[in-house]
Amino acid sequence: MIKDLVHDPMFLGIKSNPAAKEDILVGQDLADTLIAHRETCVGMAANMIGVTKCVIAFFDNGRCVVMYNPEIVQKSGEFHTEESCLSLLGGPRPVTRYKNIRVKFQDKTFVWKTSSFTGFTAQIIQHEIDHCNGILI
Ligand SMILES: [Zn+2]
Repeated sequence: MIKDLVHDPMFLGIKSNPAAKEDILVGQDLADTLIAHRETCVGMAANMIGVTKCVIAFFDNGRCVVMYNPEIVQKSGEFHTEESCLSLLGGPRPVTRYKNIRVKFQDKTFVWKTSSFTGFTAQIIQHEIDHCNGILI
């Protein structure tokens, strides 16, 4: 179900709690909402739709991927760039990111997996994991 977006920086600054199996539908809502905003948005975290659980959704080469409890376990290739956020007003802001990351997460069947990402997809995942930790760019 497509949800309304939260823009309140106080709410978005709260660290999300771990997601559990009963939060499976949050991932579906997040994917539906992200797909509805695909013209302007490449990734979302659950707190952007009002749920303080660690769930993210993003586009990986056009495919919408949902991760529960994602955690970066390896990173390399630090670089400095600028990012915008659908939840925040104003223009792009400077951030430090990593070109290559390895992410541990639970998939939509709640099985733990580890995958590697590079480039733009890796950057989106880092931005969305920051949201889970209450970190805004
Ligand atoms: Zn954002």
